[in-house]
Amino acid sequence: MIQLIRGFKDILPGEVEIWQNIEKTARLLFEDFGFKEIRLPILERTELFARSIGEDTDIVEKEMYTFPDKKGDLITLRPEATASVVRSYIQHKMYAKDPVQKFYSIGPMFRRERPQKGRYRQFYQINAEVFGIDSPFMDAQLIFLAVKLFSMLEVTDAKLHINSLGCPKCRLNFKESLSAFLSSATEKLCQDCLRRSKKNPLRVLDCKNSSCREAMVGAPAIINYLCPECSQHFEAVKYALEKVEIPFVIDKHLVRGLDYYTRTTFEIQAGSLGAQNAVAGGGRYDALVKTLGGPDQPATGFAIGIDRLAEITGLRNKDFTQKPDIYIVALGEKSRSLAFEWSCNFGLEGIRPEMDLSNRSLKSQMKRANRLKASYVLIAGDNELEEGSVILRNMTSKKQISIPIESLVEKIKAEIKL
Ligand code: ATP
Ligand code: MG
Repeated sequence: MIQLIRGFKDILPGEVEIWQNIEKTARLLFEDFGFKEIRLPILERTELFARSIGEDTDIVEKEMYTFPDKKGDLITLRPEATASVVRSYIQHKMYAKDPVQKFYSIGPMFRRERPQKGRYRQFYQINAEVFGIDSPFMDAQLIFLAVKLFSMLEVTDAKLHINSLGCPKCRLNFKESLSAFLSSATEKLCQDCLRRSKKNPLRVLDCKNSSCREAMVGAPAIINYLCPECSQHFEAVKYALEKVEIPFVIDKHLVRGLDYYTRTTFEIQAGSLGAQNAVAGGGRYDALVKTLGGPDQPATGFAIGIDRLAEITGLRNKDFTQKPDIYIVALGEKSRSLAFEWSCNFGLEGIRPEMDLSNRSLKSQMKRANRLKASYVLIAGDNELEEGSVILRNMTSKKQISIPIESLVEKIKAEIKL
């Protein structure tokens, strides 16, 4: 038997209803706030991710699904959405019409990480990106949206962590002190971090290795190195969050796994998820549009992991099973042909039909109608049809009535009053 690939998963009926509800809620919320949907390819040139996410990040160093296509160009299954949205914003010169653009998108991402609970090789994200606005109010509104979405989805243990990563100017001084700190902690760092501490010291703060985490407890915090502008920006984000009553904790060592972030960064964590506790992450990436060849436009955004969100949403307690409104028991050739016609028409009228296309006995068809928890059963037996009628059975009250088949669909509609 052929099985799916490790780290990939099927989302089956029973589970998929939760996903549909998450996506529907997110769409409505984003649309209400003026965001437009954007749908982008899953394959992009490798260079796009290498240049935006950063060569020395885990994603680019080891997690991307990259392969040469037939002509030898290197292409990659997108590991995240932001780089593609930026590419599209630049490629279609969207900034020329209006530099301010707000997008959301929903779709799969691919990272070849070690599969475990909450970590898959194909996973799904809801993304939001805003271009052309450097105001801290925009960061606060994005965070507000993410937090509200979580409460609309009845997530009860989400906690917002925020930090500022400053701009290249403040980072210069910070990197110096961080490097000094790292060189005094070398014996506790993993091999990857030893390398990172030279090339990209900020990345060490993101290492999940427990020994590295321990070593970093006393590491300098970037918020103490912010330039006056970045410091003011961060203060304003906090002020705006307080205004709309969004509680947060300042997480002075929070960095994200991608190099493009500047200033505001945030993560929403849920304790009940265990080790993979980050459900959403995002922040500002003011330099990325320019880095990728576009105009100097600021940007900010976030990504929510749907797989993890689906684990913690209160929707899990709801029953989404769709029951047939009417189950047509057909007995015999003529009956089946009528049942076929009726079921097509019921479906169009919003009466959910189910019918038996096999030639089974009344008893076994009734059994199936019961199992599917149909609200009503329509019995179209030969005798009844001879007389130009069918039997409608209310499966709750067990009452049966006879209904003439003339304009049956309308009659049933009036009778069962959906
Ligand atoms: P983590 O810290 O768990 O590795 P990350 O910082 O790599 O997450 P981002 O790149 O910021 O995650 O992506 C945002 C969200 O996407 C995460 O908060 C998480 O919910 C989800 N996510 C990321 N990688 C995976 C994965 N391999 N499987 C499932 N969800 C994921
Ligand atoms: Mg990761």
